[in-house]
Amino acid sequence: MNLVIFGPPGAGKGTQSKYIAEKFKMFQLSTGEFLRKEITEGTTIGKKISSVINAGALVSDQIVSDLIEKVICNTKYENRIIFDGYPRNLVQAKNLDRLLKKYNQKIDKVLKLSVGLETIKKRISERRTLEQRPDDSEIIAVKRYETYEKSTEPVIEYYKKLNLLNVIDGEKSIDQINKEISDIISAI
Ligand code: AMP
Repeated sequence: MNLVIFGPPGAGKGTQSKYIAEKFKMFQLSTGEFLRKEITEGTTIGKKISSVINAGALVSDQIVSDLIEKVICNTKYENRIIFDGYPRNLVQAKNLDRLLKKYNQKIDKVLKLSVGLETIKKRISERRTLEQRPDDSEIIAVKRYETYEKSTEPVIEYYKKLNLLNVIDGEKSIDQINKEISDIISAI
């Protein structure tokens, strides 16, 4: 089983992915975390992408595709990946289908966490104090939300047509969302 967890910045994708990964023995593939690691380690990719991330824009499709292929091709993670933060646009959604097919896999469900802008602002502001991510500043967080609305949200239509989509009320408590997601996964 492979899952995509979808939603705006601050929707709780990371929190829920960690929970699912632990409970169902899956692997959380957070492209954001992978990219931040490249930056902290000062790699060539890291140097190229830090200004993009800190402007709230999307890193190039090719860079992210190379990162996720390294995980998809690894038999250790076969059919147990949670894609957290990928795809972020339609090109990436089609690329994910192509890559999974290449390794004889598929997406089993897309879980969208639906959250209003006011809650997002509140959550990012709380996270700002805890994690101190440079792209969580108020101005950049708004930019990231705009990028989500423009490039990422339209991908939902793609998954709706493929009958893979489950929309979850992301305003509920972490525990309630956990339970809802677990029920969906257990029914797959
Ligand atoms: P996240 O941790 O998912 O909020 O991602 C943080 C930042 O990393 C995003 O605002 C983007 O700049 C970049 N990023 C993460 N995932 C992707 C992706 N799939 N495509 C392009 N850029 C990404």
